[in-house]
Amino acid sequence: MSHHVTLLASEQPIPVGKILCLGRNYLDHIRELGNAVPDRPVIFCKPASSLLKNGGQILLPDYTDDCHHELELALLVGKTAKNIAEQEALSHLAGYGVALDLTLRDLQAELKAKGLPWELAKGFDTSCPVSAFVAADQISDPDNLNLRLHINGSLRQSGNTNMMMRPVAQIVAELSRYYTLEAGDLILTGTPGGVARIASGDRLRGEIEGVGVLEVSVA
Ligand code: MG
Repeated sequence: MSHHVTLLASEQPIPVGKILCLGRNYLDHIRELGNAVPDRPVIFCKPASSLLKNGGQILLPDYTDDCHHELELALLVGKTAKNIAEQEALSHLAGYGVALDLTLRDLQAELKAKGLPWELAKGFDTSCPVSAFVAADQISDPDNLNLRLHINGSLRQSGNTNMMMRPVAQIVAELSRYYTLEAGDLILTGTPGGVARIASGDRLRGEIEGVGVLEVSVA
């Protein structure tokens, strides 16, 4: 089964390849979890099966009691390349979207304590809600976008992509040293502070100025 995202102004749904996620990219979020500031980017992957479309329902797994919201700017890769120069990096993107990197914080804490990878806490079904993507040429400066997450009408996360330690072009260039980036890959760029638990019945509304709105609920 293949999984798709929508690029506004494009006729065809776009099949998604890998979903690369950046951790610890906003200082206020690093501090709230008591983590160290990384030299090398902190990267993990979500499978394409974790995608959830706008309007969908988050299914909380029965092996967690602490699923956190993380509101993030998502990048849609437009062409296949490796070792991309930072000055060229933005031209490799087809679009920008609003995403949630849902995280099972209890399981992640257990895995971190044992020095194990985080994937089980990050890749469950519905752990990656994404909006439709706006064409990249509609966004003049991806490093200055306001992000806001409301849950049941109350503001829970608020930030600006200008608070990212690694700006968008650097993320794309750096990731392309480790992975061939392919058309249809998604990159999640990290979350600002304010992460917290979501519960059954919650209605989440993530908004990135100029990019779009993502609305999902918890089953
Ligand atoms: Mg995250």
